[in-house]
Amino acid sequence: MTRKWPDRVDVLVVGAGPAGLSAARHLRAAGATVLLVDARAHIGYPPRCAELARGNFFEVFGFDHPPEWVRRRLRGLRNMPVLNRTATESGAAAILGRMGVTVVENCALVGLGAYDGRERPATFRYQGEAPQTRAQLVIAADGAASRVARLAGIDTRINPLETVACLAYRVVDCDLADADDIRFEYPPILNPHYFWVVPSGPREANIGLGLPMHRGHAARPILERLMAQTDSFSGGRIAQTLVGWYPSTLPLEVPYTDGLLVAGTAARFIDAELGEGIWQGAFSGRQAAEAYLRTAGRGTTAADLAPYRQLLEPMYRQLYDGYHKRRLREMRQAHG
Ligand SMILES: Cc1cc2nc3c(=O)[nH]c(=O)nc-3n(C[C@H](O)[C@H](O)[C@H](O)COP(=O)(O)OP(=O)(O)OC[C@H]3O[C@@H](n4cnc5c(N)ncnc54)[C@H](O)[C@@H]3O)c2cc1C
Repeated sequence: MTRKWPDRVDVLVVGAGPAGLSAARHLRAAGATVLLVDARAHIGYPPRCAELARGNFFEVFGFDHPPEWVRRRLRGLRNMPVLNRTATESGAAAILGRMGVTVVENCALVGLGAYDGRERPATFRYQGEAPQTRAQLVIAADGAASRVARLAGIDTRINPLETVACLAYRVVDCDLADADDIRFEYPPILNPHYFWVVPSGPREANIGLGLPMHRGHAARPILERLMAQTDSFSGGRIAQTLVGWYPSTLPLEVPYTDGLLVAGTAARFIDAELGEGIWQGAFSGRQAAEAYLRTAGRGTTAADLAPYRQLLEPMYRQLYDGYHKRRLREMRQAHG
């Protein structure tokens, strides 16, 4: 192992998606020492996303973005950006490295020790070895599976009926009915989820669907049938296949414990109706950084970290709303 591994850091961020990158950016800008690890060999790849983000995403995320981070802005949707997530996340990680964050790819957190009143020890799997570090705060930003928070005793299990399986294609050289707007369709077979066409260029789109996890095995034939039936695009060829899943449940009510905050989809901060989680990731990562900075060195017990929940309150209201809209759509469709 050639890398110099930090024995101790202020904050360990696990997961370099929108939540972890945003947290690391805001922490480092305020002078904290940060270790950011991601299990993927290359941060940002493969993308598992339709890449549609809110208009103020970059402002919340905290990075000035070069043009290649955005594939397209959709005029029909108040110029909402369709990101290039690989370029955005790998580019943001490179900027963090230059700012002094220790960024390590291909490195999975595999063990988390008890909080000793000041820090938590963490163990990683990295290049066949098991390096360790200690951190005053761990930010669990490890996405849908949310194993890191579970290691700290937070119950992040979900009812499988509240998970969404997704399959999408990046289709290039196609003719789009409207290259400046998205199209959502709600065929009963996907209830309560949907089929989407998100233009990512004048002649390319991310085309996919979400469906209840227990029907995930049928995703490919259903997607291909819906693609053949829709009038929102024609022609083209599949350049990339994207698979993933997300929880469509309520957010974690208490997303913190001693020495640990949960951010992004790991905390179920994803709109259950729309499957929108990029903005929620960046917002909660930013607020996780803010919650840590507000402790001002006093300590990182659960009581010290509790203001995190209040910082997130406006987002919680939107997430409850999304969850109930999703439930309502499900019931309406099920009862004709
Ligand atoms: C098919 C699909 C389409 C979607 N489309 C959209 C969309 O158009 N717009 C939108 O807003 N949202 C969309 N979403 C949701 C969005 O992708 C997520 O909500 C968002 O990525 C959450 O960001 P995050 O930072 O919380 O987690 P993630 O982006 O999932 O990042 C978590 C990271 O943690 C790493 N990790 C996991 N475990 C460990 C470990 N033990 N050690 C180290 N690293 C670890 C992973 O490698 C990963 O890189 C979509 C989701 C899917 C599945």
